[in-house]
Amino acid sequence: MKQTEVLVIGASVSGLALAASLQKQGIDYLIIEKQAQVGAPWRQHYERLHLHTNKRVSNLPFKKFGSEIPRYPSRRQVVSYLDDYQKTFHIHPIFDSEATSIRREQDHWITETSNGIYQSKYLVMATGAFGKPRQILIKGMESFPGRILHSAVYKTGEAFKAQRVLIVGFGNSACEIAIDLYEQGASPSMSVRSPVNIIPRDVAGIPILEISQLMSRLPARVADLLSAPLMRMIFGDITKLGLQKKTYGAFEEIEKDGKIPVLDIGVVKHIRKGHIKVFCGIDHIAGNTVHFADGKKAEFDSIVACIGYDRVDTGLLKVEQERFEDLDVCLDRQQYCGKDGLYFCGFWVGPTGQIREIAVDAVKIAKDISIKQHALRNTR
Ligand SMILES: Cc1cc2nc3c(=O)[nH]c(=O)nc-3n(C[C@H](O)[C@H](O)[C@H](O)COP(=O)(O)OP(=O)(O)OC[C@H]3O[C@@H](n4cnc5c(N)ncnc54)[C@H](O)[C@@H]3O)c2cc1C
Repeated sequence: MKQTEVLVIGASVSGLALAASLQKQGIDYLIIEKQAQVGAPWRQHYERLHLHTNKRVSNLPFKKFGSEIPRYPSRRQVVSYLDDYQKTFHIHPIFDSEATSIRREQDHWITETSNGIYQSKYLVMATGAFGKPRQILIKGMESFPGRILHSAVYKTGEAFKAQRVLIVGFGNSACEIAIDLYEQGASPSMSVRSPVNIIPRDVAGIPILEISQLMSRLPARVADLLSAPLMRMIFGDITKLGLQKKTYGAFEEIEKDGKIPVLDIGVVKHIRKGHIKVFCGIDHIAGNTVHFADGKKAEFDSIVACIGYDRVDTGLLKVEQERFEDLDVCLDRQQYCGKDGLYFCGFWVGPTGQIREIAVDAVKIAKDISIKQHALRNTR
């Protein structure tokens, strides 16, 4: 059994930020990763993906994106940044090591992996909130002759040239994939079941994330009330585009539903121009034909389900169920943060960008561990 003071599980954005932050505090740690490289999810995402959050608010601790990188880095630029980050801080994850079970024994955490067992005083779960694609379940889908795939395995619209493609969902990936399909010569349509909030990515040249950092100090309802007239001015009445508007605004959506509203990178313009069609929720599929809840129907060649991901696999970590409540709130509001030396990083979806929150939380977690270590030494 290998022993370490801190075990970090996952070597992507959160794991790397933690490794650097622990180093800065002079804390001994090991980091394990089930894949063979750092930032594995970013290597696998679709080609067209760019950060929706501007780079100034998407830096990890102690190292910024280079000045040559555009305001919204591409997926490849994010991967290079993570590779550089690993090199700069000499982070050496133990790769191909998947944590399969984590339990508490006396005053330690025992982590069993595909590659050995670890005993640690502190444990940081940095396994990501978007690791497990939600299962696609549509009535009659087995009769569909074309491809039905989750956005997690979608790579590029090139493979769908000249096809009629239905995108299920209206999140940020769904909207970017719809644009990608249009740009690559497919005919995309979107099936949007639920009411939505759409906010512009930039307002008068200023990234919306910069503005929401200021607004997030206000109660969510107030922030929404203040921004509503501007949203109406920019997008007009979105119900005319076949979309339904949520009864509450973007800030409340993040707070209540833990969901990021759509940061528009052009989908509204494409819908207006008729490049992307909008349908309501799907009722069922019969062969090539998709029947929608309002009685409309249309034929498609492929379906891309942008239906999101399931949260952390609670089966892996054996702790009381209540502790998972911490996943829904920011670190400062976590009830069990650091209890028994267990921390979560990268699970909370906030209004100021997830990578920004990860960077802030990684530093806080490392400091908290350092404080606990000192307190323990002083009691000896
Ligand atoms: C398509 C997409 C676009 C996004 N765009 C933005 C954006 O523009 N701005 C923003 O701020 N945020 C964005 N996010 C949200 C978030 O910032 C990213 O998901 C980010 O990668 C989260 O980092 P993470 O390290 O917490 O999780 P992940 O990047 O998911 O990494 C988790 C790591 O843990 C490893 N792992 C998982 N389970 C185990 C195990 N049992 N044992 C060992 N290793 C394990 C995985 O292999 C992986 O390497 C986006 C998310 C997605 C899905």
